[in-house]
Amino acid sequence: MKGGIKPSEQYIRKKTDYFINRKLYIPCDFFHFTSIPPSVPILRQPLRHCDSCTRHAGNIRHTRFGLAKSGKISYNRFCMDNIRVYTGGIAACNGYLVITGDNTYIAIDAPLGFVDWILSRKPDAKITDLLITHQHFDHIQDAAKFKKQFGCTIHAHSPYSPELTLETLARNAWDPDMHVEPFEVDDIVDEKRRTANWGGQLWHIHFVPGHSTDSNVYHLVDEDKLFSGDVLFAGSIGRTDLPGGDEKQLLNGIHARILNQPATTIVLPGHGPYTTVKHERLTNPFLS
Ligand SMILES: [Zn+2]
Ligand SMILES: [Zn+2]
Repeated sequence: MKGGIKPSEQYIRKKTDYFINRKLYIPCDFFHFTSIPPSVPILRQPLRHCDSCTRHAGNIRHTRFGLAKSGKISYNRFCMDNIRVYTGGIAACNGYLVITGDNTYIAIDAPLGFVDWILSRKPDAKITDLLITHQHFDHIQDAAKFKKQFGCTIHAHSPYSPELTLETLARNAWDPDMHVEPFEVDDIVDEKRRTANWGGQLWHIHFVPGHSTDSNVYHLVDEDKLFSGDVLFAGSIGRTDLPGGDEKQLLNGIHARILNQPATTIVLPGHGPYTTVKHERLTNPFLS
């Protein structure tokens, strides 16, 4: 890997141990973003790849793993409610749709291929709003396309900036062909904003920097679902070695803004399977 982006071996070992010990799938973001040093012995063990990688873009099979598989959350229940998941792009980023009305949706994040996936299923879908958890390239590659196709309002913590998208770094380190089309953020949702009404629903907004300087977590209050971006994952936290990262800040924010939510709150992360606040409080090795 070029570009000096290399998580510490300790970080890699801790994260890998966690998944191996629990026989869970390794989240794709971890693979995609990590060059694995040969000196990490544990990694010679065969690993299972999580199912949410780009090869399976567009399905939601990955939600069967993790908690759903262990019976803590019913997969069927998840399917029947009003959230849909798309996974795509080089980092297997999750984009979510929240149904807010008849064929009307709010989108959370814009991974590559999300718009085409929506149109292939619902050619006449109406997307009123796009909430961006943070501007790392994997979460915004389809943002301009969302605007063009649906004319939706784009909400984000900060105006579009290549310094936030890390697109140059990503091109150098991971994908020379990667392209980000600039887009305009219509609604700046910074730390002064705590609540919003989007799609006729109440949202709480939590600013939790540390993975990036512009990370927002969006809580759909009535349904108690929290879109955590790359702040908190099932069994892990966002990496903090990218520009603008700060582990202490991230951990403080997770404790202050997420772990104090009701235990039953469902957490829908930017990569990998969903989880609950309770499950992360009890088992996440980065939070103990
Ligand atoms: Zn990120
Ligand atoms: Zn990401």
